[in-house]
Amino acid sequence: MKYRVLGKTGMKVSVIGFGASPLGGVFRNVTEEECLRAVRTALDAGINYFDCSPYYGLTKAETMLGKCLAASGPRDRYYLATKVGRYGDGLFDFSAKRVAASLDESLKRLRVAHVDLLQCHDIEFGGLKQIYEETVPALRKLQKSGKTRFIGITGLPLKIFPAVIDHAKVDTILSYCHYCLNDTALLGLIPYLKARQVGIISASPLAMGLLSEKGPPGWHPAPNDIKRTCAQAAAYCKSKGADLSRLAMQFALANEDIATTLVGTATEAHVKNNLAALEAPCDEALAQEVLAILEPIKNKTWLSGRQENN
Ligand code: NAD
Repeated sequence: MKYRVLGKTGMKVSVIGFGASPLGGVFRNVTEEECLRAVRTALDAGINYFDCSPYYGLTKAETMLGKCLAASGPRDRYYLATKVGRYGDGLFDFSAKRVAASLDESLKRLRVAHVDLLQCHDIEFGGLKQIYEETVPALRKLQKSGKTRFIGITGLPLKIFPAVIDHAKVDTILSYCHYCLNDTALLGLIPYLKARQVGIISASPLAMGLLSEKGPPGWHPAPNDIKRTCAQAAAYCKSKGADLSRLAMQFALANEDIATTLVGTATEAHVKNNLAALEAPCDEALAQEVLAILEPIKNKTWLSGRQENN
């Protein structure tokens, strides 16, 4: 496993991070046994960063991850990140009061005394003034209490990050679906973040299933042209005896400015494939062909949250 330092936190995080949303049954129904296998395989291979949220499976993912980690070794074997503010579809609460209670509930489900990173989840659904005036200071208070070591913000539209960081310091940002084969818009924000030593976490290297043979789940928000073009890329790779997901992982993991890339799965075989992607040489010629197929939808995205935050 390779490790990179996450901004100013000093945490040396594995370049592959474990995204735990699938443990909440977000992509398909899962069993405790398979989740445990996926988590153990990840830990044994040196993956030391686990990301969760009360939103994933409406608390199920935190409960499942807590169980699996508790059964897999001591607390100092991994960094644990969770979130506050998003609790269901259309259910957000970024108030200082809810944030404090939310972390206590998460700690119980995760079976730990502290998390390493507490992030405000999908801030584009809130008013950004509230985020920097109320939510971020509330997170800092929790940091002083020792219940979280660091704080961050997450979301889809990239403009939300400077809009908050210009007013309030955070230790990390988590961006998703913006550093993968079909979308590299995150590159434009990296100089701003590096200048401020904000740690960069990138999630969804498979664009939430778009860059896989199986394709995305029914709830995937991408418009049809993105879905269609990614399916073409997957079919092309298959016709060449290759796996689009492997190529997508290799592409995402190669960027040294991104400390960790969170990939989600509850399937041990996927964990193993993703680990193998890190070691295997990249087929550069195939990568160029796939990038050409994806070119018509390059950096195309979808709306998320309030209109004014997109
Ligand atoms: P992803 O791009 O990691 O794709 C996940 C899908 O790909 C799942 O269906 C999984 O079964 C499948 N998959 C994984 N490895 C595979 C492989 N080798 N071959 C084929 N299919 C494979 O998207 P994601 O799970 O949404 O993102 C990863 C993690 O990042 C999440 O679990 C979550 O922890 C985090 N995340 C956070 C936010 C946020 O904070 N707003 C948003 C998105 C993701």
